[in-house]
Amino acid sequence: MSKIIASAAIRGGHACVRRAETALAECVDRYGWDKDVGFPSTAYALPVILALTGKRVERLGDLEEALGTARSWLPAEPTERLWLPYLGGALDAGAATLVAQEAIEALKPLRGIPSAFDYWLGPTADGILREQGIKLVDGRMPGFAACVGALPDDETAEQLARDLQERNLLVFMGSNAGGETMAAQLNRRGVEMNWETFLVPYGPDTSSIVHALGFACRAAFTFGGLKPGGIKETREILLYNQRRVFAFVLALGEVDDEKYATAAGAINFGFPVIADTDIPEILPSGICTYEHVVANVAHRDMPARAVEVRGVKIHTVDIPIPVRHGPAFEGERVRKEEVAIEFGGKHTRCFEYLASRPMDQVQDELIRVVGPEIGDVPETARLPLAIFVEVAGRKMQPEFESILERHIHSFLSEPMGVMHLGQRDTVWLRISKKARDAGFRIGHLGTVLLHKLRNDFPAIVDKVQVTLFTQSADVEALYPAAAAAYQSRDERMGALTDERVEVFYSCALCQSYAPNHVCIITPERLGLCGAYNWLDGKAAYEINPHGGNLPVRKGDSVDPVLGQWKGINDFIRNASNGSFERFSAYSMINDPMTSCGCFECIACILPGTGGIMIVDREYSGQTPVGMTFSSLAEMTGGGQQTPGFIGIGTLYALSRKFISADGGLSRLVWTTTRIKQRLGDKLRQRCEELGRPGFYDKVADETVCTELEPLIEYLAAVEHPALEMGEMV
Ligand code: SF4
Ligand code: ZN
Repeated sequence: MSKIIASAAIRGGHACVRRAETALAECVDRYGWDKDVGFPSTAYALPVILALTGKRVERLGDLEEALGTARSWLPAEPTERLWLPYLGGALDAGAATLVAQEAIEALKPLRGIPSAFDYWLGPTADGILREQGIKLVDGRMPGFAACVGALPDDETAEQLARDLQERNLLVFMGSNAGGETMAAQLNRRGVEMNWETFLVPYGPDTSSIVHALGFACRAAFTFGGLKPGGIKETREILLYNQRRVFAFVLALGEVDDEKYATAAGAINFGFPVIADTDIPEILPSGICTYEHVVANVAHRDMPARAVEVRGVKIHTVDIPIPVRHGPAFEGERVRKEEVAIEFGGKHTRCFEYLASRPMDQVQDELIRVVGPEIGDVPETARLPLAIFVEVAGRKMQPEFESILERHIHSFLSEPMGVMHLGQRDTVWLRISKKARDAGFRIGHLGTVLLHKLRNDFPAIVDKVQVTLFTQSADVEALYPAAAAAYQSRDERMGALTDERVEVFYSCALCQSYAPNHVCIITPERLGLCGAYNWLDGKAAYEINPHGGNLPVRKGDSVDPVLGQWKGINDFIRNASNGSFERFSAYSMINDPMTSCGCFECIACILPGTGGIMIVDREYSGQTPVGMTFSSLAEMTGGGQQTPGFIGIGTLYALSRKFISADGGLSRLVWTTTRIKQRLGDKLRQRCEELGRPGFYDKVADETVCTELEPLIEYLAAVEHPALEMGEMV
């Protein structure tokens, strides 16, 4: 490491540790050593400290110990620019800096300093991290950029943010340059910043960047299943990040000692630093995949250079439309006052319908708007819309129609300035004035569908033709055909049972983060992320026979009740790298399936009730088992098999095979209102099918109670069937 960087990093480390010690002393004076300290909604205490020191900091006393460790890592403070022959000293100082910064951030609430205010988001809850899991593995979010500082002006800031978004990179922002921050610059440009838009402002202090490292450490815990501990464990966590978490730091504006020290901290994780200023470069590769520090990069070139240096693999699709597009723009809303034209919602009929046709009946690339275009109607007009997509392909099968159609939502959400909500005939679509002014037309919706369908489903879609009807008469004329198709697909899906098929599909997408995890997806049990069902697996295999989804022959039945088959078990043994011998498709107690980290919900046994609860990852409160979702997830995830605990896709709760070996849905005694809402009438219907009158209303939620004792009383009062079914283990 360059000697200038090394001495600056060491000085910065000393200064940071001193600041943390002062802040701690102030808090101890006020509250004493036993005062609780920590970030909200996480099971990993102060995650960077946990990863680097193996210590779980819960009270101020623990923090003192952690800072003592950090201090012991600091090399002697240089009084002048010393010649430092090797990287080690600066890297140690970097690690000490991260510990100190995390302490400073954690102490903020105790010192009356807000962490989240204005547009700043502060620390991240575990639930949000898990929600990103599926995007991390399916390529929608291949990497992370931590932007430290600010750009020369607002416009350049937006340019850089958009360039990073367009590459699907999650952008963390923190620190400042001379008091200016990138997030403030984006805010002035009216850019929406939140997890949905991939733009996450942590805080204006340099210490807030430690939250990005905290995200990385928790990825190793939650998805990688790594455990904190001693030096060996810390090394594993750092290696995990170097190999699997494609992050880098963009140093924007002047770099002071603390920033050098933070950069050295990031280099420990294998995250390189790309700077726009003339800081000393460290080119030979060692810890990072390629260069450690690259200086003097023009803002325009930063995303490309960073991606290349970190070795991030980015898949983007070229679509000839006049606005930017990509998953990072999916979450963007188009507010009422920004609307140029609107379809559906409560106002007009708006639906999408995708049908497969014989090859000779589809004219590839034919995109038509039948009826008024955006320029033909007054601003803020509300029109009806039918999005009619006809596809043909040699390997296309009618059963894939529903899959392709379901993707219309994410495809049409991707162009910047287009908001798409709902599916089938509940669509609500808005196009913003900005997009229209940039030249976006209704017809471009077809362009997007054409390119995305061909790109994402290459083997099954050879030809695409899109018609966009914007006149009521045409929309109404097509609707009965669409409605009939929705209904017959639902009936077909309902009839698809595990018994009726010979093969299930595996999904190994999450192995990039959870190396021994594999999902077995059956017609009646979807993947735990909620994003892949059996048909998706089948289509994915058609598209890429060497991809993450493989057909697995069930073979002879080993145990029909538990849901074990010889073919599946043989496959698991191999696909889990020998970690697991067998899986039960229908039990959460005997050989349950493993859970990576991106599960939508956790189902777990509630001792004393004879039942189970299901809790979703957005629920941050207490649960009757005495744990929050985060703590439960820590036990359940990381590719482990934990009897009594399973990660599940929400819809699995509606399946007739839902823990059928353990008593099925009748075991459900508590869940969250969010899950009840999400499953809606379908859950009621399933409850009725159980043949237990009034069952639905006997299932408690957080509005009834959040503790075990009152729950047991409630269950007795309503005569919940689980009480009679007896304990599950
Ligand atoms: Fe990961 Fe399983 Fe979802 Fe595949 S189905 S992406 S392995 S959670
Ligand atoms: Zn996963």
